Amino acid sequence: MPFIELRDVSLRYDNGYLAVEGVNLSIEEGEFVALVGPSGCGKSTLLRVISGLRPPSAGQATVRGQPVGSTPVNIGMAFQNPTLMPWRTVLQNILLPLEVSPKHKQRYRQNPKPYVEAARELMASVGLSGFENAHVWELSGGMQQRASLCRALIHQPEILMLDEPFSALDAFTREELWQAMQVLYLNRRPTVILVTHDLREAVYLSDTIYTMSSRPGRIAHVRRVEFPRP
Ligand code: ADP
Ligand code: ADP
Repeated sequence: MPFIELRDVSLRYDNGYLAVEGVNLSIEEGEFVALVGPSGCGKSTLLRVISGLRPPSAGQATVRGQPVGSTPVNIGMAFQNPTLMPWRTVLQNILLPLEVSPKHKQRYRQNPKPYVEAARELMASVGLSGFENAHVWELSGGMQQRASLCRALIHQPEILMLDEPFSALDAFTREELWQAMQVLYLNRRPTVILVTHDLREAVYLSDTIYTMSSRPGRIAHVRRVEFPRP
């Protein structure tokens, strides 16, 4: 059974706009998938469907065979904008999801130590050691994005959703972040869905690439391309 499955999924927004239509895809547990396609083709919309933010207007979206939203799934997210909170230190930002995670918040409140240790390990793996008590404004854009990747992983999510997290970075920093992402992925093997319009990025990071195109009739044609991981 695939871990995540979309069968003939369509999503019409409240204003009547049909953003995706007839999408089929299946994702295995631990697979690193990239969704590639032009702006507006419905990539973020599919992330919203899979995360349960938007129930499909037609078709079925399932995680472990259960309809999305019917059972809790731990999801981590990172976006183009790192959205760190300026009044918190870097470490405090990374620990933030634990304060709201149903699975972790009680244990975290009783004994934060192992979580702080885990955060330090994540920080070390992306080259952020020594910046625990730094403030957000002291960090470059690339370092902020490293911190946001750590924050997305601190509660050990089963699914990691990345919506163009590397797009706003300069080319050099972007490639450094790809390496950092590779390390984070190989350490934990979460199921990852990366939205990007950078095909090189998709090839570098993912096992499977789905290319989406918007066509007349707003059908998102999803095509699977597999790459052997080196
Ligand atoms: P992508 O992530 O590929 O750029 P999106 O999934 O964000 O595309 O959007 C797909 C289409 O749906 C776009 O044309 C966008 O303007 C439209 N759209 C996105 N969100 C909404 C919304 N909340 N209401 C109406 N239309 C939306
Ligand atoms: P992205 O650049 O990540 O694809 P968008 O700019 O498409 O994001 O969308 C940003 C936000 O605005 C989203 O919450 C989306 O749902 C909403 N949105 C996008 N297009 C529309 C639209 N045509 N009508 C209403 N809301 C929209």
